[in-house]
Amino acid sequence: MLLIRCPYCEQERPEVEFSFAHQAHKPRPEEAGEPLDDHAWARWVYYQKNIKGVAHERWNHAGGCRKFFNVVRDTVTSEIIATYRSGETPPVEESRVEGEALSFDYEQAEG
Ligand SMILES: [Zn+2]
Repeated sequence: MLLIRCPYCEQERPEVEFSFAHQAHKPRPEEAGEPLDDHAWARWVYYQKNIKGVAHERWNHAGGCRKFFNVVRDTVTSEIIATYRSGETPPVEESRVEGEALSFDYEQAEG
């Protein structure tokens, strides 16, 4: 059984107590300088990086303290490298996503 350290409870707990939420450190549309329209919100809610390697993720200790925190996880091996509290700086840099600078235009994809 995989044990995950909750940074708030400060103890390792079984993985069944936790749930994945979404990509961590995802800037809201206004923080990214985008217009606040439906398209920007749809991208923010539904689109996430698909990182192969070290990724920053937001998890919830649903079966414990119920607090959200951040996880540094290797998506290739599923190894959890570190956990840290919300608002703290990630202890390990995230892997680069191929073509990350490109934005996805879902209006073209709908056609
Ligand atoms: Zn906890």
